[in-house]
Amino acid sequence: MKVLRNLIPIVLILALSLSLRPVRDWLGNIFPKKIEKRSLALQPYGNFVPEWSAEIKRSLEATYPMRFHLLESRDLPETAFVNIKSPRYRADSLLRDLARIKADTLDHILGLCTRDISTTKRDRQGQVKKPESRYADWGVFGLGQRPGVAAIVSSFRLMRPPKELFLDRLKKVSIHEVGHNLGLKHCAELNCVMADAAESLSTVDQVGFELCKKCKHEIGLKD
Ligand SMILES: [Zn+2]
Ligand SMILES: [Zn+2]
Repeated sequence: MKVLRNLIPIVLILALSLSLRPVRDWLGNIFPKKIEKRSLALQPYGNFVPEWSAEIKRSLEATYPMRFHLLESRDLPETAFVNIKSPRYRADSLLRDLARIKADTLDHILGLCTRDISTTKRDRQGQVKKPESRYADWGVFGLGQRPGVAAIVSSFRLMRPPKELFLDRLKKVSIHEVGHNLGLKHCAELNCVMADAAESLSTVDQVGFELCKKCKHEIGLKD
């Protein structure tokens, strides 16, 4: 009995030290890092219009209580260029470029470009979706790691008429991709900015600028 009594404090100390050990996410951050403590850099590529960057920054500030920095424009890396169906830049390559140039003091980075971007669309088994000729190099509005450090948005496919919707689309896609970086999945709520864009601009036009209650809750935001 006496041995057992002596063991109790040791077990308690062990349990306490294990529970206090910081859990790290795959980025090496102490997880979960509060959203208020996070920062994001906007990285325009090429001739991305400065007014658009400023508008996107404002809409991100209205959605996420993070710190935002607007960086100087840089050239698109030629290593990301492909010409399979049409001249495009591979979104996954751009995400790698962004993750590489991101300063250690920042948590996330959002690339902004005017050139068409593409990715490979895969099914649940990880195979290229059929028909391959359509989905191997699939043009997208944006792409964001989930969760992760990097996201990219392209204005290229958002320019279709009506023109007055262009900036709203750009803001919604940016809020959406940053949401993925913060860990959010696609949302079944039709008005939620995290609804799946499902291959069409009409979906982007249909959603609002806001995260639904459930999505807000998931990243630690109050209504
Ligand atoms: Zn998405
Ligand atoms: Zn939602």
